[in-house]
Amino acid sequence: MPHIAVVGSGPSGVYTAQSLVQPGGLPGARVDVLDRLPCPYGLVRYGVAPDHEKIKSLQGTLRAVLQDERVRFLGGVEVGPALPPAKVLELYDAVVYCVGAAADRRLGIPGEDLPGSWSATDFVAWYSAHPDARDEGFVRGVRTAVAIGVGNVAVDVVRMLARGAAELMPTDMPQAALGALAASEVRDVYMVGRRGPSQARFTTKELRELGALPDTELIVEEAESALDGGYREPAGLPAAARRNVEVLRGWAGRPRRGAAHRIHLRFFLRPVEIVEGRGRVAGVRFERTRPDGLGGVSGTGTYEEVGAELVLRSVGYRGVPVEGLPFDAVRGTVPHAAGRVLRGGLVSPGEYVAGWIKRGPTGVIGTNRPCAKETVASLVADAPALIGARSARDPLEGLVAAGARPVEWDGWRAIERAEAALGASLGRGSVKIQDWAGLLGAAREDRRA
Ligand SMILES: Cc1cc2nc3c(=O)[nH]c(=O)nc-3n(C[C@H](O)[C@H](O)[C@H](O)COP(=O)(O)OP(=O)(O)OC[C@H]3O[C@@H](n4cnc5c(N)ncnc54)[C@H](O)[C@@H]3O)c2cc1C
Repeated sequence: MPHIAVVGSGPSGVYTAQSLVQPGGLPGARVDVLDRLPCPYGLVRYGVAPDHEKIKSLQGTLRAVLQDERVRFLGGVEVGPALPPAKVLELYDAVVYCVGAAADRRLGIPGEDLPGSWSATDFVAWYSAHPDARDEGFVRGVRTAVAIGVGNVAVDVVRMLARGAAELMPTDMPQAALGALAASEVRDVYMVGRRGPSQARFTTKELRELGALPDTELIVEEAESALDGGYREPAGLPAAARRNVEVLRGWAGRPRRGAAHRIHLRFFLRPVEIVEGRGRVAGVRFERTRPDGLGGVSGTGTYEEVGAELVLRSVGYRGVPVEGLPFDAVRGTVPHAAGRVLRGGLVSPGEYVAGWIKRGPTGVIGTNRPCAKETVASLVADAPALIGARSARDPLEGLVAAGARPVEWDGWRAIERAEAALGASLGRGSVKIQDWAGLLGAAREDRRA
């Protein structure tokens, strides 16, 4: 019976498992889905914003796959120095790496490491209760925040900063983050792009949500935005950009009404320095840019400073190498051909990739489904040469012998129950546990019961 390891239980890992066991997949396949975290679902649990309940509910679809009798979730198992890829390949007929690309890109400007300057990834991890997250006191003492970047993740963090506690209360946000955001005095939030409104990467649905936030006004500077020809004349733009521009034009020039929160959407500003004051962030210095006529921008030599106590950079994600797996440091992905891992340019038999670590951090959750299918098609085509070479033992025995202490499905369900109980004790729905000890304690408690 072919036994396949999928490393990573985010969307690409779960879609890979699904493609392997469903008709047209690998006949008779058993799939172990390994994850370094004791909790499944990757960024659907630890990235998608807590107030995006409809997208979060995708966890239900992923769950059905992990509960399939041919699929086994093994959380708390990290492939890396202690469990190298070569060892995993010994235990399984094939291994599919779906480890994501959740590290942030840096700006490469002075002041980036000052206290108060964080990546959006750090901030998202904190409000999503990722057990590796640190509480950096993100919003303490902050009146003005700047998000650098104009993609959907930037929109998420801006929205979180402007949302009131009453709206976040029904979500599964960890109690500490909820308390900190409830006590926050953030009033002004800037979202800043170096190019024009028609080139912004956010989607219209996410953009519109900002306009629907209670007691919040949107500020778009007409003269600045109109440097963009697509903003002035949206008719010729691709549909998605045109819709964005129409929403922004609807907000431009609106009279101020003194709302509790102000969201400033700023364009044609390139960050050149995070400015320091009293040992921490005091603002961001931007160079004004203008369209260069080739789709990019060029600097103008004029500068503007926005005072702020918090800076969140949100200029993209990149993959993190897994020790023992090849890695293209420029693209931040594992080199592959149709999902087959390449070592030194040659196909490495039995090793595959899918998801963000395969194609880079782009696309929505659904994009990972065809990506996983392509990889599984390669694996199925290669299967005659792969299956049967390993020992017939259950690979779980080998993982345990190698020192792993997997959290299986019952352990994860115990975490879910502990989170429901925590929420009930706080008068809330399910509330996420935010630390390793709490998660592992809940998972192992079940084993003792
Ligand atoms: C902040 C944020 C918000 C987003 N919001 C949305 C949204 O609202 N809607 C939408 O459609 N898309 C959204 N996306 C995009 C979506 O989350 C991604 O398309 C998707 O999660 C990528 O799937 P993946 O499986 O490749 O990676 P991931 O979801 O990152 O999953 C990777 C998994 O691999 C595990 N792992 C990593 N390294 C190892 C290792 N060495 N050993 C074992 N396990 C390992 C991780 O713990 C993780 O569980 C968002 C992305 C981000 C960053």
